[in-house]
Amino acid sequence: MEFQDNLQFDAKHIWHPYSSVARPSVIHEVISANGVRLKLADGREIIDGMSSWWSTIHGYNHPRLNAAAKMQIDHMSHVMFGGLTHQPAIELSRKLIEMTAEPLQYVFLADSGSISVEVAIKMAIQYWFAQGKPKKQRLLTIRNAYHGDTFGAMAVSDPENGMHSMFEHVLAKHLFAPEPTCQNDEDWQDDDISGFRQLIIEHNDEIAAVILEPLVQGAGGMRFYCPEYLRQVRALCDQHNVLLILDEIATGFGRTGSLFAYEQADICPDILCVGKALTGGYMTLAATLCNDKVVNGIAADGSGVLMHGPTFMGNPLACRVACESLDLLMESDWQQQVETIETQLINELMPYQSMNLVKDVRVKGAIGVVELHQPLDEHMDWLPTFIVDQGVWIRPFRNLIYIMPPYIINEDDLTVLTGAIAKILEQLSR
Ligand SMILES: *Cc1c(COP(=O)(O)O)cnc(C)c1O
Repeated sequence: MEFQDNLQFDAKHIWHPYSSVARPSVIHEVISANGVRLKLADGREIIDGMSSWWSTIHGYNHPRLNAAAKMQIDHMSHVMFGGLTHQPAIELSRKLIEMTAEPLQYVFLADSGSISVEVAIKMAIQYWFAQGKPKKQRLLTIRNAYHGDTFGAMAVSDPENGMHSMFEHVLAKHLFAPEPTCQNDEDWQDDDISGFRQLIIEHNDEIAAVILEPLVQGAGGMRFYCPEYLRQVRALCDQHNVLLILDEIATGFGRTGSLFAYEQADICPDILCVGKALTGGYMTLAATLCNDKVVNGIAADGSGVLMHGPTFMGNPLACRVACESLDLLMESDWQQQVETIETQLINELMPYQSMNLVKDVRVKGAIGVVELHQPLDEHMDWLPTFIVDQGVWIRPFRNLIYIMPPYIINEDDLTVLTGAIAKILEQLSR
């Protein structure tokens, strides 16, 4: 059969994320996708619990996003952004400025999340250079962070999770504070910030910026922490002359229950990265926003030129789809949708907490995480096939089984996802 040939070719020749071509793992061919369902080449339909890595918040094959893309193709798919501009980029930037905190008034359109982080880091270092403080070029972040796979982003991601030992000599050496542990502001203890505070006090003459994923640490371990930590970080950054970069590439656009996670702490970053859900999962696009302080600071040495400009910067097709996706989001009852998902995840996942192999179950917004005591590595020969056989798409990593479905998922489909997690846990308990 043709699809078997395809899979054989794929296994032999194509890199997949975090994979080996020499020893390929199980892979499924998707032929189409609609709503929350992926259709596989073998005819099966499975429910997507991953939103294609936090991105397809409105579901697949959305008529309005399709129409926006087709319309834009007939006008202009791409034109260079150097010296030229266009309506989709202007409209999108307007929308981003409007929906983010008031001080964030400037937009750099990047081509992926990792690149938006690179740009944020460049902005911060260039800011201090222009202030006559070229020694301030290190970043301070926290353990279990993930900010992307390019070298700048990798250098601020957790050294152990990111397998930094391989790249030790090429990665910039940044500062890592212990990860926050406090889950609720009511339980706040000063201990949680003391390691961070010590680092920022000792090293502030060499720190350009702090970079954090607010409230939810994603690919670094699916860990949650309380808003008070962010308030403390913001205050320490102000006290010690350090810029604050928030990476909302995963948390942005409603996933944690507020449009942006920083809103829950009532703070504002100097620089903000967004991506993933920005185009509703249609294509790659990200953005780095910043405030007056950063823009004027960079201009202080006379030029104000930010030395970054990808070939496909501000791609009109991606910007047009992003505009439509943001319109869809703002016209929808996303807050209610995320809250409904959260309630159902709490009801249906929390009972697994009592199982012996389960270390922790946690839910924030439309994110549900089951953390096990043991890593799943030794089960990876049968587990991916078992999961698809349950009619779902869930991709566990390390000791984590987690879901973050499209916001449009209905109650029954979400129950299929949480039920599949139950079956995985049962199977693992045998
Ligand atoms: C996914 C992610 C990135 C990287 O985005 P890419 O588009 O994959 O380059 C950066 N930061 C966070 C928090 C992410 O979740």
